Amino acid sequence: MKTSPQNESCVETLADAPNVAALVKEKIEELDAQGCDEAFFIADLGDVVGKFVKWKELLPRVEPFYAVKCNQDETVVKLLAELGMGFDCASKAEISQVVKMGVSPSRIIYANPCKQKSFLKYAHKQSVDLMTFDNEAELIKIKALYPSARLVLRLLPTSHFKVQCELGNKFGCHPDNVGKLLAQAQELDLNVMGISFHVGSGVEEAAAFSCAVKQAYEAWNMAQAYGFEMTLLDIGGGFPGQKSAPITFEEIASVLNQALDMYFPKGSGVRIIAEPGRYFVASAFTLAVNIIAKRTVARDISDNGGASVDGHHQQNVTRNDEPSHMYYVNDGVYGSFNSLMYDHAQVEASVLEDPDAPQFSSSVWGPTCDGLDCILEDCHLPEMEVGQWMYFRDMGAYTMCAGSTFNGMPRPACFYFCRSSVWREVNGEPVAKRRCESLSADGQFPAVLKAGMDFQSLHDAVCSIPVAPE
Ligand code: PLP
Repeated sequence: MKTSPQNESCVETLADAPNVAALVKEKIEELDAQGCDEAFFIADLGDVVGKFVKWKELLPRVEPFYAVKCNQDETVVKLLAELGMGFDCASKAEISQVVKMGVSPSRIIYANPCKQKSFLKYAHKQSVDLMTFDNEAELIKIKALYPSARLVLRLLPTSHFKVQCELGNKFGCHPDNVGKLLAQAQELDLNVMGISFHVGSGVEEAAAFSCAVKQAYEAWNMAQAYGFEMTLLDIGGGFPGQKSAPITFEEIASVLNQALDMYFPKGSGVRIIAEPGRYFVASAFTLAVNIIAKRTVARDISDNGGASVDGHHQQNVTRNDEPSHMYYVNDGVYGSFNSLMYDHAQVEASVLEDPDAPQFSSSVWGPTCDGLDCILEDCHLPEMEVGQWMYFRDMGAYTMCAGSTFNGMPRPACFYFCRSSVWREVNGEPVAKRRCESLSADGQFPAVLKAGMDFQSLHDAVCSIPVAPE
């Protein structure tokens, strides 16, 4: 693998790539040899492609429009563009990023129900005419700035299900208000042509989708009764992106397909799109961080059994002989781990050291001078030293996109690779395996991704995959 951060846009294909731990190890050895200790991401593009294949297979009726906000990494967005995906953009900058890649405006939905005026003007200039709305003020704005836009009413799903990130507290028209909003759109002579919803990011129950599809159906019928010609259903995002998620994509797809077939059956002519974010990127990114400092403190055990790492004695606290290690690493809550706060993410540290080594009570802290900058308050790790590394899997969603350089801390570089075995790993079932074999005689990943971003061969290979028969 190329190691220099200058080469960060290079993609390497590894015919027989080892697992993530081995890749991280290999990269670290190379960086160590160069005296480089910066945190870095490893991005597995094959993982993203695998997700795309799985989507086509399990949700064949639904066109994915990737939610750029989740991770706007140029290489990943370009890969998705080459795969023919649509895009959900939330701002002028996101529209601009995608349009500059040559994506047709017809493959973009401006899916922010509360748009800045100048952004709306920009969308008009770029002919991005498909957009969501959920309130009257937005309709008035659209009437003034983009009256020919194709409008998608974003509905508030009212059934409550467990989600990682709530969105309904901020967006969505309550079903009770749909009639009024449609009447306003009608009065303004606007073109409402679709219904959308978002069940919440990282939904934990598949029924959230079936309930929302039913509600969308009711709103759809109401819109038709108002005389709108309805053609588009947008089922939003919310799909899980990593194996540790409480629900699988397969479970959601199964429930969702049934609901779609019931309320928006094949042959009805309804175009169905979705706005997945974390699904496509969460598991593709691994973050490696360097231990820049270490402090060993007596482990305090309070009477209620809780451990504290602050090293201070308090009443009802006794000292324990076993030490506790505080590790300070070079990315934190103000950087990629902002996901702990904003995305309510949970992360797990992995180490390259012997997994059978004795484990110690530990905490992991970010590099800034803020006491809030804590990644893991209480975990168990083998003892490590300054200069060693730890890594975190599933760091692709809502991480680097909201990271800052607070305290002058740099953002990690990203190294891209694509491993041949991804097809076998991601698609274990016989059908997928057959497809994999049909892509290349030796079952290896077919695309040759090289520096210079030649995605064409990958595109051709993936697009030649037969869509599962309905
Ligand atoms: N669409 C909209 C409008 C969103 O606000 C979001 C996330 O906030 C998404 C799609 C992506 O959601 P997810 O990453 O859960 O798929």
